Amino acid sequence: MPEALVAAIGAARRGDRVAAPIVGGAARAGAGEPVRNPATGAVVGQVIEADRAAVADAVAAARAAHGNWSLAGGAFRAERLERAADLLEEHDALFLGLAIDEAGKTLVDAIAEVREAVDFLRYYAGQARADFTYPVALPGPTGERNELMLEGKGVFVCISPWNFPLAIFLGQVAAALAAGNSVLAKPAEQTPLIAHAAVELLLEAGIPGDVLHYLPGRGETVGAALTGNPDIIGVAFTGSTEVARAINRGLALRDGPIATLIAETGGANAMIVDSTALPEQVARDAVASAFQSAGQRCSALRLLCVQEDVADTMIAMVAGAMAELNVGEPALLSTDVGPIIDDEAQAKIAAYVAEARAAGRVIAQAQRTDLPAGGHFVPPVVIRLDHVTDLKREIFGPVLHVATWKGGELDALIDAINASGYGLTLGVHTRIDGVAAHIAARAQVGNVYVNRNQIGAIVGSQPFGGRGLSGTGPKAGGPHYLHRFAEEKTISTDIT
Ligand code: NAD
Repeated sequence: MPEALVAAIGAARRGDRVAAPIVGGAARAGAGEPVRNPATGAVVGQVIEADRAAVADAVAAARAAHGNWSLAGGAFRAERLERAADLLEEHDALFLGLAIDEAGKTLVDAIAEVREAVDFLRYYAGQARADFTYPVALPGPTGERNELMLEGKGVFVCISPWNFPLAIFLGQVAAALAAGNSVLAKPAEQTPLIAHAAVELLLEAGIPGDVLHYLPGRGETVGAALTGNPDIIGVAFTGSTEVARAINRGLALRDGPIATLIAETGGANAMIVDSTALPEQVARDAVASAFQSAGQRCSALRLLCVQEDVADTMIAMVAGAMAELNVGEPALLSTDVGPIIDDEAQAKIAAYVAEARAAGRVIAQAQRTDLPAGGHFVPPVVIRLDHVTDLKREIFGPVLHVATWKGGELDALIDAINASGYGLTLGVHTRIDGVAAHIAARAQVGNVYVNRNQIGAIVGSQPFGGRGLSGTGPKAGGPHYLHRFAEEKTISTDIT
């Protein structure tokens, strides 16, 4: 890595930043609360929670601003989002430093995160230019001109998780803006600083201050106040299934127009491995999928399902590959597995692992190596299950479950995986093409990965998103995403 970038990241890691609400382009004052580095517990900045007045002012301003922003056209909005992408590339060191300090991202993950955020900005800008600039002419009766317009819906609330504190935050906000909405952006409690820097960057790029507002705070206060407001028209939410359900209930009960909910939620992702799979490849892919980002990815592999006759070899190889992972200081290029986001999450995962250990189900656990003091770490672990249906919920950490299945029972296995109700990702390792195609067709998931690492979403070429308990669709980074943020209008004109 270039030394200049290393130095710039170091300089960006200052610890004195304040994430204050930004309403109408101006910062709001208030009492700050510390934001902590999950790898060390050190204070890396302060956050000021948006109060009721900030929420009310932001909603009113966003509502008033929406019409002009939508009428300004896709090309006008695209230009600003593209400028934001340029600025993000120019200031990447700041964002890399914040992703490491605030979210505990490893350097490798942080670089991917910034790249993805840039890609989202450019991709949605391109779509705004193409789809939202001119009306589309439709075929119709002679003597009539029929056109279809796309317009912003109104005021959108964007609520994001901490595990992709820049890419998902900016992806949702950029999509809502590109489609012509004004936006109330609420980041996760744990990662307000990087989101604050992203909003400052969008404002600098020319997004009007009355169109985009930054409202940090807790989900049950600020998040609930935003999603319960009768003047909002839609919510783009990424986070847990439980919170998506709570938001859905709240939207149904409130006054005002029928709102759109775009939810991208959790997963209980399985990988099916048959006896023709290559053991080295399975071990490499399973370990990367389960433990990269300390398993704190919605797409992460949770359940490895291995055909019985090759199970001993495969599981031993997976455990061996896991043992080689470097767990520790995320800023080092050599680190594979960084910290768990906070002490509460760490305690929950540690209790789950302790219970499995007491039941004799822990097959292997990586060693704690040279860990920074004061941080929240859980060494990667492999846990045996009797049956695939024993995994009932998402365990959001570096925990891989393994279960076996008998040859001849493939369809029953796929149906059992489907029965979890989650539908995010599925991995398949087989050397028989027909088997891979059969599994992909029968699986009730949004993304299938064949003979490769099971995580990954590439803007524009691997659109990502789940179904069932894992989300409402459409797929982020795909050709249809922006349309869910928009209204269609048909204009029919007599031209005789
Ligand atoms: P979370 O559900 O706890 O929080 C997500 C956001 O919702 C936060 O900003 C939080 O403040 C807010 N929130 C909480 N309660 C709220 C309420 N009552 N009203 C409104 N907002 C509220 O999730 P998290 O711990 O931040 O993130 C991890 C989860 O996100 C995992 O389940 C993971 O699978 C999921 N995730 C899914 C995807 C995907 O694309 N499907 C991507 C990343 C993360």
